[in-house]
Amino acid sequence: MEKKEFELFHEIGTHAAHLGEGWDKVLEAALIIHGHLCGAMPLGFRTGHLALKALSAEREPNMAKIALVETGSAHAAGCFVDGIQLATGCTFGKGLVQKLEYGKWAVTIAIKKDGRAVRVSVKPEAVQAMFDGKFMDHRRKGIPPAEVPKEFILEPFIKTITRSDEEFLEVSDIFTYTFPPAPKPSFNIAVCEVCGEMVAENKLRVKDGKKVCLPCSEYMA
Ligand SMILES: [Zn+2]
Ligand SMILES: [Zn+2]
Repeated sequence: MEKKEFELFHEIGTHAAHLGEGWDKVLEAALIIHGHLCGAMPLGFRTGHLALKALSAEREPNMAKIALVETGSAHAAGCFVDGIQLATGCTFGKGLVQKLEYGKWAVTIAIKKDGRAVRVSVKPEAVQAMFDGKFMDHRRKGIPPAEVPKEFILEPFIKTITRSDEEFLEVSDIFTYTFPPAPKPSFNIAVCEVCGEMVAENKLRVKDGKKVCLPCSEYMA
């Protein structure tokens, strides 16, 4: 990615300053990580931001909350999930984001310690506007997002970042989410006795009396 691109992302980030202290930096980071301008990432970003605001919660530095995102795979505008992850800190690597595969532009954020949760969705008109835009015309023709001329997406992107929540987002009342039981994370590691690679201990299996990793065990579960 060129330096020019980073400068543009920095400039666009400044439009998120109205969301609260430091949100200009969060949007800049989101753009750098996401890699391109599009219609769905900023929608996810604002949806995630509003969910945190409704819960009076901070961006997640640890593992204290989860995001259940209703978009899925194999449909347009899946970039929504990246906007949610980057705004809320509920990331894939921390195991805090789950795709529900409904093909809907909505998220539920739930706090682990007390189950407090909120669902935020994008109003149909805003999703429709994204699908009716010139950016999506290019995407339908198979042009990759980063190759669509910026003139077709810069203005809609900044509009999504700067408009008021009420205009395009719907927020539920606070409700209680029941978390399914989760296994405790393991902090122990061991070396696979077949391939010699390091493995998290709770992923080891025993095969022919040897402690082995999943690929070497051929169990795969
Ligand atoms: Zn995108
Ligand atoms: Zn192995």
